[in-house]
Amino acid sequence: MGQLEINNLTKVFGERDEEVVAVNEIGIDIEDGEFLVLVGPSGCGKSTTLRCIAGLETVTAGELVIDGQKITDQRPTDRDIAMVFQNYALYPHMTAYENMAFGLQMATDLSDDEIERRVNETAAMMGIEALLDKRPGELSGGQQQRVALGRAIVREPSVFLMDEPLSNLDAKLRTTMRTELQELQQRLDTTTIYVTHDQTEAMTMGDRIAVLNEGKLQQIGTPLECYHEPSNQFVASFIGSPSMNFFEGKRQGSTFEHAAFEYQFSTGTAARLDETDTDQLTLGIRPEDIRPATEDDTATAIVTVNVVEPLGESTLIYFDLGGQECTASVSGNLSTRPGEQISIVFPEDRIHLFDSVTGSAVKNQQYSAREATWGNESVGDRGYS
Ligand code: ATP
Repeated sequence: MGQLEINNLTKVFGERDEEVVAVNEIGIDIEDGEFLVLVGPSGCGKSTTLRCIAGLETVTAGELVIDGQKITDQRPTDRDIAMVFQNYALYPHMTAYENMAFGLQMATDLSDDEIERRVNETAAMMGIEALLDKRPGELSGGQQQRVALGRAIVREPSVFLMDEPLSNLDAKLRTTMRTELQELQQRLDTTTIYVTHDQTEAMTMGDRIAVLNEGKLQQIGTPLECYHEPSNQFVASFIGSPSMNFFEGKRQGSTFEHAAFEYQFSTGTAARLDETDTDQLTLGIRPEDIRPATEDDTATAIVTVNVVEPLGESTLIYFDLGGQECTASVSGNLSTRPGEQISIVFPEDRIHLFDSVTGSAVKNQQYSAREATWGNESVGDRGYS
């Protein structure tokens, strides 16, 4: 079992005049067996949150509970938690076997035979049996990371904490290890909190992701909820690659007025906006939601192409709109070149609107949980409404 509650967790470093609030009243309930990814930019408090859960930092306020038992003041060794670090933290003078066995020898009263059985079983599962006699210096980065993971797995903890465990690996190995880790987590079914600053890792690995900024929880949800229904402009800009385009403007009735273009809202959207108390709006549209205007469309804008980046399946087009560099991601079949003028459309069912003052979302894409079944996808079933 490993149901973890993080209640109003706060961590302040430093003295009165130079206080740094690294973690600010974070509350998250993590289900037993869930894979939760903590994601956010550098300095947002991810590692500090993890270190508080591990017991490596004392908390300033709030509490941590595993399976109904308060662990906030327990020593790290008394918490049923195993942590995997970015730099592997293996003992250099010990073999891979000794590194994996060490924690069990120190923290449990398991017999040598039982320890040997667990280490060998885990090594087989991780495909590292042949490495057990080697020291870390004789292993590649990927092999060291497998040993570090194995060391955490033999402990059979209630909760795994992983702090950027793949960031020292090269891009290709990272992608392979990402899939391996996901498969492993599903097989072990152990609650896992995984820290990364990489939104792709967060989107692809987590059952749910918790987006942090400046010590505060911005949103918690499934990757697709955070992508389609970001709670604010920060989440909208952080999740998704390339990033969402934003245009600050003002609403006048059913028109959004930007310095470089005007956008007509439908009656339904205008009525919904009447219920909000702000006219200072920021319109957001993801690059992949911008499409070329057809003869039947009213183009949102006519823009001049600056740069074209063909990626094969899709092509990225960079253009300037109102002095702002924007990106569109269109089908790789579409041909265009720098200097050409193109007409683009922001479909209304794909735009996001944010309160320009608070950043809160006013209108999102309304992603619904309806999923298209494989081989039976129609436009209406694509999760948009
Ligand atoms: P990164 O991705 O760069 O590791 P992070 O999101 O993990 O960043 P933290 O390491 O948790 O961020 O740091 C959050 C804030 O707390 C930062 O402003 C950092 O400078 C500060 N901080 C972290 N540890 C300490 C410390 N021991 N003493 C003082 N300030 C600290």
